[in-house]
Amino acid sequence: MSDLNSTLVAPLGTIGVADIETLSTRSASMIARAEVVVIGAGIMGASIAYHLAIRGCRNVVILEKEAAEVSGSTARSAAGVRHQFSSVTNIQLSRYSIARLRSFDEEVGGHAELRQVGYLLLFSDPREWANYQATTTLQHELGVRVELLTPEEAGRFVPRMRIDDLVGATFGPDDGYVDPYGIAMGYLRAAQAMGVRLRRATAATGFKIEGGRISGVASSDGLIACEMVVNAAGSWAGHVGALAGLDIPVRPYRRNVYMTRPFPAIPGSIPLTIDMSSGFYIRHEGASMLMGRSNPDEPSSFNQQVDWEWLDTVLEAGLWRFPILEQASLAEGQCWAGLYEITPDHNPILGRHPDLAGYVDASGFSGHGIMHAPATGLLMAEEILDGRAHTINIDDLRIDRFRRGSAHHEHNII
Ligand SMILES: Cc1cc2nc3c(=O)[nH]c(=O)nc-3n(C[C@H](O)[C@H](O)[C@H](O)COP(=O)(O)OP(=O)(O)OC[C@H]3O[C@@H](n4cnc5c(N)ncnc54)[C@H](O)[C@@H]3O)c2cc1C
Repeated sequence: MSDLNSTLVAPLGTIGVADIETLSTRSASMIARAEVVVIGAGIMGASIAYHLAIRGCRNVVILEKEAAEVSGSTARSAAGVRHQFSSVTNIQLSRYSIARLRSFDEEVGGHAELRQVGYLLLFSDPREWANYQATTTLQHELGVRVELLTPEEAGRFVPRMRIDDLVGATFGPDDGYVDPYGIAMGYLRAAQAMGVRLRRATAATGFKIEGGRISGVASSDGLIACEMVVNAAGSWAGHVGALAGLDIPVRPYRRNVYMTRPFPAIPGSIPLTIDMSSGFYIRHEGASMLMGRSNPDEPSSFNQQVDWEWLDTVLEAGLWRFPILEQASLAEGQCWAGLYEITPDHNPILGRHPDLAGYVDASGFSGHGIMHAPATGLLMAEEILDGRAHTINIDDLRIDRFRRGSAHHEHNII
């Protein structure tokens, strides 16, 4: 992956007309004007472009700085989808999105590969368990199926799982995992079939701002005049916001995924199981097991090399809860790392920016972007075409929450 720092130039609003003309005449392939420019061809940019196009807004350009689309966090995720969140808005985003993913292949085309094997959350801290049960009340009120389990009931899901220290567990039968690449490519190809244009290897490098509103996006391939731009740049959203002079508090943090070789000792399809005391999670990936655990002490960076030193800590937590893993062996060549795009309250930043007309945020999903992509696409299309998102109230997720001091932390994070 290229380091974006080396490709960014000053915000266009801060440079002269001569510079703009230089940019705009640089390439014969330049697109002169678009209704909307979407920055980033990950699952968010793809979903937003698709939802704009099905509503008839088809003069849309997606800029992707890499040579290939869907090569950012979307292609590196653990692909989990769950309803088990602590806020009304996040639960609503999940409910809408997972329902849409059920009919994705017929509705959009492509392959969502939704496997509703469930999420099993294990609790050993009585206070955390008490707090968590309160969020299941909210989940039930919003129509989500979540079961409260005893340790013995939880232990039936995974052979030889250690349960002696557990105080309880939850099981969400409608949760599971998907194929993020298949979803993103499905949205992209459907959008392109409706006229949306994708520009690969074309970084957004600045903005043209006139009279306090967006009037164009500068790219490595020239200037595109437009009235609306969406920052769907994932972990790079903070950099892209800075090009417009905006402080978008999205920072990249490395996350690692480790894979075993095929492991028949855990047969069938276990739920995506998370030991909430350590953050260790495990699920099947084909015949192998996929595992991870966030390192809370790792500083923000764009490093996407697998952290082999962290592996020992991950395995320690995994073996303690699942002693059966002693029989497993690591498939080193199939492990990977990617970036979580994290905000201060672990919630995304969505919607029109109050300080810059024509600029829309759709970033900072803090590790939940795959599962919230269908709803985000719909809501951002509403925000752009109707003036305001209305299917789900996203006021909690607007950027001014940080200014107003009204940000609420999402507690159910991994
Ligand atoms: C290890 C790991 C596990 C995860 N597990 C889950 C999970 O279980 N469930 C879940 O829902 N989510 C999970 N996530 C998070 C999820 O992957 C992200 O939230 C989601 O992919 C964000 O999508 P995106 O389109 O916003 O970002 P990305 O897929 O990163 O796409 C952003 C794109 O913008 C491009 N870009 C950046 N700057 C520019 C620029 N200046 N010009 C043009 N293009 C630009 C980038 O190259 C990139 O292609 C996980 C992430 C990781 C790394």
